[in-house]
Amino acid sequence: MTKKSLKERLDKGPVICAEGFLFEIEKRGYMSSGEFVPMVSLENPEALLNLHRDFQHAGSDIVQAFTYNGHREKMRVIGKEELLEPLNRAALQIAKDVAISPLGKEPNLMAGNISNSNIWEQDDKKSQLEVEKMFREMVGWAVDEGADLLIGETFYYAEEAYTALKVMKESGLPSVITIAPYGQNVMRDDVSILDTCKELEQQGGDVVGMNCHRGPNTMMPYLKEIRKALKCHIAGLPITYRTTDAHPTFFNLPDNNGCTCHSPHETTFPTALDPMQCSRYEIGKFAKEAYDLGINYLGVCCGATPMLIREVAEAVGLKVPASKYRENMENHYMFGKNKRIPKHIKDYKDKA
Ligand SMILES: [Zn+2]
Repeated sequence: MTKKSLKERLDKGPVICAEGFLFEIEKRGYMSSGEFVPMVSLENPEALLNLHRDFQHAGSDIVQAFTYNGHREKMRVIGKEELLEPLNRAALQIAKDVAISPLGKEPNLMAGNISNSNIWEQDDKKSQLEVEKMFREMVGWAVDEGADLLIGETFYYAEEAYTALKVMKESGLPSVITIAPYGQNVMRDDVSILDTCKELEQQGGDVVGMNCHRGPNTMMPYLKEIRKALKCHIAGLPITYRTTDAHPTFFNLPDNNGCTCHSPHETTFPTALDPMQCSRYEIGKFAKEAYDLGINYLGVCCGATPMLIREVAEAVGLKVPASKYRENMENHYMFGKNKRIPKHIKDYKDKA
């Protein structure tokens, strides 16, 4: 069977990509929050494999290797630089194993991944060269391990995103590049969100767009502008939290749910965001609205669960393996309409 390329798939319709491995692996108990290093590929590979399989079952067409934060600088921070290459290769191999054993007819695509380095500094050539080197070694391992495409994501400096794209393009693989501006609604090097995306298209990004930091409400307005101004395929992968105009990203999102059990940090990020979680219907609505605008590369980032990935897929008309288990309130013991449900149980529902 010949595998369709990313572009062939996007030209035909929606392509789903699950991100958000960091938060979900942390929730599953295999990563320290705050520190956020993806040691899971080495220390608990079966846990990572399971999450990939769950996302695949929920409809993710792309299996993105979990190498987010798995870069040389982060490994230096935790004093485990010698594990950098083994960690990257293990994550890529796990993703490949999943991608080559699809649940549907169409093989999945395996993606190598680079992302925000957090050492990039504007006008500092030395830090920029260091980052470029970090990107190049990770892209090299991804190519070695048989990636079908590369994803550069969560960039908040425009120039860092351009550098990531340049390095990804050297590989000759299709390149997805998505940015994640902070709450000032501009890149940290003062380039506007739209101008950054225009430039990324000019520089040859096959798919350009936004991921992470913003929930559906504060990402959508920019996606609309980007879709209008660019000709290439567009990506939209929000976080799954209810961000607002006053707090456009999850970093300073206040608890708005009357919770009196405050987080031990100054912020609800990253360990007390739960009350601000979007419902599946809000995520589905986002996906449908984006797809109707002509945005074909869709998914969710931090806060993603298999259920939300299925919701994205179904919202754009796809039937996925997990669709078998979509909600069926018909047979609920109290709220269902099934004839067998006793009247005295149904009648009690307003008081339940
Ligand atoms: Zn994210």
